[in-house]
Amino acid sequence: MENRHANSERLFGEAVSYIPGGVNSPVRAFSSVGMSPLFIKKSEGPHIIDADGNRYIDYVCSWGPMILGHNNSEVYDAVVEAAKNGLSFGYATEIEVKMAKLICEMVPSVQMVRMVNSGTEAVMSAIRAARGFTGRNKILKFEGCYHGHTDSMLVKAGSGLMTSGIPTSAGVPQGCTQDTLLAAYNDLEGIEKIFQTSGDEIAAVIVEPVAANMGVVLPGKGFLERLRSLCDSNGAVLIFDEVITGFRLSAGGAGEYFGIRPDLITFGKIIGAGMPVGAYGGSREIMECISPSGPVYQAGTLSGNPIAMNAGYTLLSILKNHPEYYAGINHNAETLFEGMKQIIREAGLPYRVNYIGSLGNVFFTDTDVTEYGSASKSDTKMYAQFFRFMLSQGICLAPSQFEAMFVSYAHDDSIIRDTLNAFEKFIHSLK
Ligand SMILES: *Cc1c(COP(=O)(O)O)cnc(C)c1O
Repeated sequence: MENRHANSERLFGEAVSYIPGGVNSPVRAFSSVGMSPLFIKKSEGPHIIDADGNRYIDYVCSWGPMILGHNNSEVYDAVVEAAKNGLSFGYATEIEVKMAKLICEMVPSVQMVRMVNSGTEAVMSAIRAARGFTGRNKILKFEGCYHGHTDSMLVKAGSGLMTSGIPTSAGVPQGCTQDTLLAAYNDLEGIEKIFQTSGDEIAAVIVEPVAANMGVVLPGKGFLERLRSLCDSNGAVLIFDEVITGFRLSAGGAGEYFGIRPDLITFGKIIGAGMPVGAYGGSREIMECISPSGPVYQAGTLSGNPIAMNAGYTLLSILKNHPEYYAGINHNAETLFEGMKQIIREAGLPYRVNYIGSLGNVFFTDTDVTEYGSASKSDTKMYAQFFRFMLSQGICLAPSQFEAMFVSYAHDDSIIRDTLNAFEKFIHSLK
């Protein structure tokens, strides 16, 4: 039989000699689905095209940024125009002011914002700001939530680490994680106990307001509200890590969607429209602690890079000016995930589909998935089989059970129909 992935396999064969594991981020490895990774050379709308010229419907969408579909023409034009003036200056630029103002207008609880170059950097900096602001050290995080690869957050940290079965990471001194407290997502009793014993030492609670790095896990009723009130009564900073949910659940992100005002928010992914961008922002009181206006040091040679800012500004402006896009994106997602649920139900199978807005996924398990423990009960071998089947049908999913499917505006009715047809075939192949 003809090998449809000959070029990807050849590139991977060469890559492993020069790049650890052959990839620049472990989530790109296909080892947990028993394949070597696809190499992509081109994308458009809902599709990606690999090094062998195969075209796939894509549900990774660069892990979120491509919320309007791949290679949006307005974003593309903005990048090309900006590049004509130079790639970077190392001085302040007007586009940084416009970008900051736009984010503050879009996100209700953000009064000031600092641009960085990745979600990891945003989280690292927000934690430092919270510690500097409160004069405390401890950070409470949740099992299965991923907050980038900064040392203190590499404890039970979701997808990339769940997939390879690494409980934490080598190379992280115990000193770096000794101030990280862990709770189970949605476990209000557990969280209240932690606050009873350590409430006056907790600088911040950091949470994915919708967890999307152990598969998609929704906040239960009252969960985020209780975090807000516990932070208030204990003088702790509430950080929403909205690297995935920001500009996705709504133009104002999860804070707006759930009607809760976190003190700090971290951004990444959508905010750069595909360029390497992150940001953190929040109340003026906390953000004024950041250097050079305050004592918390944080810097970046390429932060606010003009090309990246033009890309992000263009995408965010489209999202702000076209609220109807969110209705379209969510309609696409609802059709997909409700369709999957129905196919599973009609087949009499117990699998779970979790979704909210345009984030969702299927868990191959027969129990509700509400936190890390129930997520990790999923049958990852079944997921690998599912992944390979869908790929054979021209549909590319994340190569891990513990990632979201990202639905975009470009995933229109006919794309969703093709996806559901393939899903139905897969489910029937199981009987
Ligand atoms: C992706 C992600 C990060 C890390 O962002 P990078 O840009 O990969 O460093 C942090 N938090 C959440 C919730 C994420 O999904």
